[in-house]
Amino acid sequence: MEWSSEAGAVMRKVPFFVKKRVRKKVEAYVAQQGRGTVTVDDVYAVKKGYMENMEKEVAGFRVENCFGPGGCPNRAGPDEDLAGRIESLLAGSDLRGFLKKTVNGPLKFHHEFTVTLADCPNACSRPQIRDIGIIGAAVPGLTDNPCSMCGQCVEICREDAVTLDENRQMPQIDVSRCLDCGQCAGVCPTQTIQTIQRCYKVLLGGKLGRHPRLARPLPGCYDADQVLDIVGRCVDFYKQHSTGGKRFAQLAAENGPELMAALEDLIHYQKKG
Ligand code: SF4
Ligand code: SF4
Ligand code: SF4
Repeated sequence: MEWSSEAGAVMRKVPFFVKKRVRKKVEAYVAQQGRGTVTVDDVYAVKKGYMENMEKEVAGFRVENCFGPGGCPNRAGPDEDLAGRIESLLAGSDLRGFLKKTVNGPLKFHHEFTVTLADCPNACSRPQIRDIGIIGAAVPGLTDNPCSMCGQCVEICREDAVTLDENRQMPQIDVSRCLDCGQCAGVCPTQTIQTIQRCYKVLLGGKLGRHPRLARPLPGCYDADQVLDIVGRCVDFYKQHSTGGKRFAQLAAENGPELMAALEDLIHYQKKG
């Protein structure tokens, strides 16, 4: 679908948290009329209807993903549809029904429980400012394969986490600096460095607004089933404690130890080779 430059300019002013939905609706509206180009009038027509029916559009939750599944070469996490599984989980949690009962007045998009996935530490989808942020990780480890000391791993690492030990003729990875992007393993011609685990890091309790807060990372790296377990428990926690539309991030800030206790048996620590 093509967009005229005027339509694109209007679209850029739509708030980021509804932009994807509005774009989809505009394109569906234009396609329905058998046209292939979006004009500025189409954007205004759809935007008007959308704002007038905002409460009906509030699903109670939102799951977003970066462009990783579309073929981004930086993708580091497991190759699977975790976003789809989270969406199904949240769809079965009746978050809209919960919000209808607890929020005073009409529902707004900012009431929605948000989960955002980024498939690598570049974090393009901004998981740090969502209720739950998930970041795909490729954990590097050393094998017994001899190193050719070519230096490509050192060169590609943006965190300065890799050094070469001239005496042992081996690389060393500083795990305190490493972000698990997997780039060093990707360029190593001898597979001295390999990806030993593909998993997800989980951040809890981020938000923007009047009192912004960056989501805090849980220790460890998790598989999809474990992430779903964490998301499920966070939703339970949210439904047990939230009143009057209070956001999960605020609960996480106010009841941090209680939230961690609810997750305690799920939290584990990352092992690196
Ligand atoms: S977060 Fe990483 S994988 Fe996702 S779009 Fe950005 S660079 Fe690509
Ligand atoms: S996985 Fe770690 S050590 Fe390797 S390039 Fe990424 S940040 Fe550097
Ligand atoms: S670990 Fe691999 S990329 Fe790094 S210097 Fe050795 S052979 Fe080259």
